[in-house]
Amino acid sequence: MTSLDDLPIRADLRGRTPYGAPQAHVRVALNVNENTHPVPESVAHDIVASLAAAILTINRYPDREFGELRDGLATYLGHGLTRDNVWAANGSNEVLQQILQAFGGPGRSVLGFPPTYSMHSIIASATGTQWVEGARDEGYEISPETAVREIDRTAPDVVFFCSPNNPTGTPVSLSTIEAAYDATDGIVVVDEAYAEFLPQGNATALTLLEGRDRLLVSRTMSKAFAFAGARVGYLAAAPVITDALRLVRLPYHLSALTQAAATAALRHSDQMLAMVDDIKAQRDRILTELPALGYAPLPSWSNFVLFGGVADPAATFEALLARGVLIRDVGIPNTLRVSAGTEAETTAFLEALAALGDPTSGPSTKLDR
Ligand SMILES: *Cc1c(COP(=O)(O)O)cnc(C)c1O
Repeated sequence: MTSLDDLPIRADLRGRTPYGAPQAHVRVALNVNENTHPVPESVAHDIVASLAAAILTINRYPDREFGELRDGLATYLGHGLTRDNVWAANGSNEVLQQILQAFGGPGRSVLGFPPTYSMHSIIASATGTQWVEGARDEGYEISPETAVREIDRTAPDVVFFCSPNNPTGTPVSLSTIEAAYDATDGIVVVDEAYAEFLPQGNATALTLLEGRDRLLVSRTMSKAFAFAGARVGYLAAAPVITDALRLVRLPYHLSALTQAAATAALRHSDQMLAMVDDIKAQRDRILTELPALGYAPLPSWSNFVLFGGVADPAATFEALLARGVLIRDVGIPNTLRVSAGTEAETTAFLEALAALGDPTSGPSTKLDR
């Protein structure tokens, strides 16, 4: 058998590891920040009706410009945006990949601020873009001064911010994004995958788009919108940016079924987002209950919590898994990350964690299985 090392693979891909969040079948899966509430049945019926209609013309290629979907996304985003400002792909990961295909690539670099979403550096490497790491301030924040200093130091072609940041939950202020934009001639991307979980009335980078043609705000239907399995991500930017992305996207990249399903779901965005307040309440419950168990959660503006004070993250991860609760070890020493689930799932997580005993000594090995 040929091994990966024997293949004539690109030299820059040798020794790389793929994205690999475990996909175990467990009772309580709180590891990839999905909305764990199912799609409401009435919405599901409307989506199915739209899919049924789309199937009747599936012999033809789909609308390459996915105009109806872009209209739906623009209406959902508001802020005076129209279809010309909106682009979409099979998950925001594909949107980010298209951005680096168009604006990164060999000989170019993208600046990110770890710890951050692991896919940002993986997409950089897959597109042959050099990944350069910027330093954060205390508490994982990025001040305007820090952003400008790191841009001046590394002179990147593209800057990636993640706000709120995965896995820390930290927001990036609009003044930091404005300062970064002014400090570079390159593209500035704000990954707002968790924007719907921001505190009510909190401004998003969408408010900065006017007059900033190099600013791109990426979003996804995978998190708050309860649509992870459908694979729909999108971005808002100046119309000229979508012209650039048309140069690198594959023709007809969004299937007729994806377009139909997403357009139908967007017609019911109120119902699709009805659980967001519930999820925020469960996040806040995790934030208040973890200290009582001896753990140190970080403030979170998203649907997950990173918590410190874990003596042995790998052991605690395994002990929780043995109790049917899957969370995430993101590789930051003495921390673990958990997504806020339904009330019952969140209770199951907190009870399983409490049953492990004193966090400073690692999980108890006496599992009552
Ligand atoms: C989950 C996540 C995404 C979503 O990716 P999709 O491809 O849209 O499912 C994007 N960015 C961040 C920071 C995420 O955590």
